[in-house]
Amino acid sequence: MSCIFCRIVAGEIPAEVVARDAGAVAFLDVQPLADGHVLVVPRTHVARLEEMATADAEALFRTVVRLVGPVRRALGAEATTVGVNDGAASGQTVPHVHVHIVPRWSGDGAGTIHTIFPRRTRRPLAEVAAAIRTALG
Ligand code: 5GP
Ligand code: ZN
Repeated sequence: MSCIFCRIVAGEIPAEVVARDAGAVAFLDVQPLADGHVLVVPRTHVARLEEMATADAEALFRTVVRLVGPVRRALGAEATTVGVNDGAASGQTVPHVHVHIVPRWSGDGAGTIHTIFPRRTRRPLAEVAAAIRTALG
């Protein structure tokens, strides 16, 4: 098993595990963006969100929702930023789906999800929406 997150799920390599649920495991990011930075991963190895089975996706988000309050309270944080880098072009470095939960404080100097994008859009909303509806089938 070469996937680092599969090995953490299996208990083969150490991690600061904070929750082990039926479908997902949560542990501290080894290079935290803030104290309390947690990664939540499905037990089943998939690289991308779109490869997830519905039951695994539901279990993953259930664990995320279960954790945000306790993580925030444990760190005395006011909020959390929750996000997924989905695919190498987005910055995903570990090809096993993982949800970042990062505690946030007013004035912590971090941006919002909006601040990572330069807003270089080219296409009208209606055209984009139609393309997505067609792709959905
Ligand atoms: P990505 O950029 O793929 O969304 O984030 C991967 C995250 O996994 C990074 O924040 C990185 O610090 C974390 N990470 C990488 N390897 C390990 C590891 O072996 N253990 C833990 N706990 N976190 C890791
Ligand atoms: Zn894996």
